[in-house]
Amino acid sequence: MGNIQTNRNKRRPEMFEKILFPTDFSDVARKALSFVKRLKEAGGEEVTLLHVIDQSNLETLSSIRTVPDYLTIEKDLEDRAAEEIKLIENELKEIGYKVTTRIEKGFPLREVLKVAGEEPSYIIVMGSHGKSNIQEMLLGSVSEKVVRKAKNPVLVVKR
Ligand code: ATP
Ligand code: MN
Repeated sequence: MGNIQTNRNKRRPEMFEKILFPTDFSDVARKALSFVKRLKEAGGEEVTLLHVIDQSNLETLSSIRTVPDYLTIEKDLEDRAAEEIKLIENELKEIGYKVTTRIEKGFPLREVLKVAGEEPSYIIVMGSHGKSNIQEMLLGSVSEKVVRKAKNPVLVVKR
């Protein structure tokens, strides 16, 4: 009997209960967002909304700008990311999701894998492509490597 109780407390989350949605605010990521929304009907409850401010963009900026300009641009990127993520957060909350937002600075692949690794029961929902959206590429570099390296299941939404 005791065992039944324990198992109940430690029940495994439903398949689509916890969702990790990394977004670069691109059109393809927007398309992936519509799938995140539809997963609500399939048992979705919590969404971790993740945006990574790309370190390599910041480094490029720092090499061509003076320090005060760089700081302004960095601040601007952070403010814009916070605004964009807030809009998505509201959309998801409106349909009943519990939402956690995270803005990280670093390399998108590394940060996505790090956050995914914190919660094995996340299903990752992401776009096949992002801002670059190069015609010839079957997958973007982030989505390709997340599929390859993450232990979590990944739902890749095509462009
Ligand atoms: P590449 O970046 O290799 O030039 P791309 O921009 O077309 O190609 P990816 O960057 O792999 O494609 O984007 C695929 C998906 O990965 C996006 O739809 C989004 O879900 C996620 N992603 C990409 N960049 C970020 C980021 N900076 N923060 C959060 N998620 C991201
Ligand atoms: Mn990209």
